[in-house]
Amino acid sequence: MEMQHGYVAKGVGERLEPFTFQAPELKEDEVRVSVTHCGLCHTDINAIDDWYGITKFPFVPGHEIVGYVSEIGAGVFDKKVGDRVGIGWQGRSCKECEWCLRGEEQLCYKIVRDATWRPYGGFSSSVVVDSSFAYRLPHAMPSEEAAVMMCAGVTVYNPLRAYASQPGRKIGIIGVGGLGHLAIQFAHALGYDVTAMSSSPRKRDEALSFGADHFLDVNDEAGMDQQEYAFDMLLCTAHGDIVWEPLLDTLKKKGSLVLVGFPRLDLNPTDLVAHQLSITSSFLGNHATMREMLSFASEHKIAPRVELMPMSQVNEAILRVRENKARYRIVLVNEGHD
Ligand SMILES: [Zn+2]
Ligand SMILES: [Zn+2]
Repeated sequence: MEMQHGYVAKGVGERLEPFTFQAPELKEDEVRVSVTHCGLCHTDINAIDDWYGITKFPFVPGHEIVGYVSEIGAGVFDKKVGDRVGIGWQGRSCKECEWCLRGEEQLCYKIVRDATWRPYGGFSSSVVVDSSFAYRLPHAMPSEEAAVMMCAGVTVYNPLRAYASQPGRKIGIIGVGGLGHLAIQFAHALGYDVTAMSSSPRKRDEALSFGADHFLDVNDEAGMDQQEYAFDMLLCTAHGDIVWEPLLDTLKKKGSLVLVGFPRLDLNPTDLVAHQLSITSSFLGNHATMREMLSFASEHKIAPRVELMPMSQVNEAILRVRENKARYRIVLVNEGHD
């Protein structure tokens, strides 16, 4: 069996090193995908740092994968060799648990242990996944943009779509970064009245150019006071420490805070209870949502802003994201692809 190449973290927080591994044999329902592009997501870095407490080393990150099908298993009829596909964080599901049977396979009980890619992630020359988790891409969508859609795109589209039943609802998008700049575009296209909320006033013009109707500097106390009870929903795309009380004051009574990033949640329950607020979250999307997101993005010309870097510079790319310098997503290009 052919040898493959990737970039591996051997321990918590370590730099990635070049890594050679044996490509696994395909099971019946699987496809092998030769990776051309892979986005760098904040959660890759969290996983390298074992922030979730579940990383198994050696660990090859990368879950915003685009490439070409290079081999198909004996039972695969929905893909053929040469198809351009995108793959996200999920690479398989158990197909028999409660959530898989309900068509919400992103909630599969086995997702964390058994439902990603084989043998490793997308910072490598190839990955193996269940064919149903390799999504054919719209022709007009460039591979580097499609890569980002596979995680960041669906992460923000799924909750926005779910809560968009009444167009014109007012939404605040917290954070204008990798997730936030896509959330603004999707929310605008879905008909929300969109306010981009950030602690960086210099992001105002870009946020408006992505489709935000308004921009709110969260450190501007007077500006925040004017937005008391303004929003039906806040979508939090930011990480790290957030001062929640002034933000929750901008929610209407019975409003919702929806988390898609992983911020610290240090909340005073007073307003939460007295205003009957909800805190909820969203994780990836099911097959139907993935396909819908890709065609919706293509139709509405929604595109992430990406910086391209060669896969061999993965450590420099990680450093740029750690230092919050990426504008807005870094996509690694596999120069070894043939
Ligand atoms: Zn991700
Ligand atoms: Zn399952």
